[in-house]
Amino acid sequence: MTEAMEQVFCPPRALKDVPTHFCPGCQHGTTHRLVAEALDLLGVQPRTIGVASVGCSVFLYDYFDIDVVEAPHGRAPAVATGVKRVHRDKIVFTYQGDGDLAAIGTSEIIHAANRGEGLTVIFVNNTTYGMTGGQMAPTTLPQQKTTTSPYGRNVLSDGHPIRMAELLAALEGTSYSVRVAVDSPRHILLAGQAIQKAFEAQVQGKGFSFVEVLSACPTNWGMPPLKANERVAAEMIPYFPLGTFKDVTGL
Ligand code: SF4
Repeated sequence: MTEAMEQVFCPPRALKDVPTHFCPGCQHGTTHRLVAEALDLLGVQPRTIGVASVGCSVFLYDYFDIDVVEAPHGRAPAVATGVKRVHRDKIVFTYQGDGDLAAIGTSEIIHAANRGEGLTVIFVNNTTYGMTGGQMAPTTLPQQKTTTSPYGRNVLSDGHPIRMAELLAALEGTSYSVRVAVDSPRHILLAGQAIQKAFEAQVQGKGFSFVEVLSACPTNWGMPPLKANERVAAEMIPYFPLGTFKDVTGL
């Protein structure tokens, strides 16, 4: 088998060959694979430490073949800061959902970015709190119905969805901030490249790198997987445009 074929057909070494708990059509699995492929390609799996957040991705430690620290809700960037400052030679990343990063952990993510911590943050935006039953998140789209916005999000009373990649790009300490999606083969390819670059930035000591991944949550959206996947392009991307919002890595 050629190296290219091996990359397509063999599971990444950084991922364990175990069944996951994710719902059918959930795109966390795709993003997990892209992260694992980046660690493999950069050859950093043995010295990588993940920081798991609270949410549907909490079982990161069961799926990745790396050391993982579990952080309290929203605090993954603070925990990762401590880990990285003690272990400068390690590659440290957080993997967080939107309820965790953009609501409960707003303070932690903004200050970690502003300090220019040498971390990589993978942020999965599926416009809802997944694990706790589909409540409105800061990223919930206008008029989107959730369990806590049954008539649809009203921006006049609930505020506007937060564009985290743009927000963090505005901070001096951020070196790389992008938004990608995993709803099509082309987008998955681009997402993989962005995630790899975010980790490479850390390997090269370029500072804080952030990748927002638009992702489907069929269960809490009340949609079959195909429809949920289509919603990413039809409704999410128009509000959360894909692209690079800051790149001063020089890579
Ligand atoms: S609730 Fe949503 S985000 Fe969580 S595992 Fe199921 S589909 Fe994925």
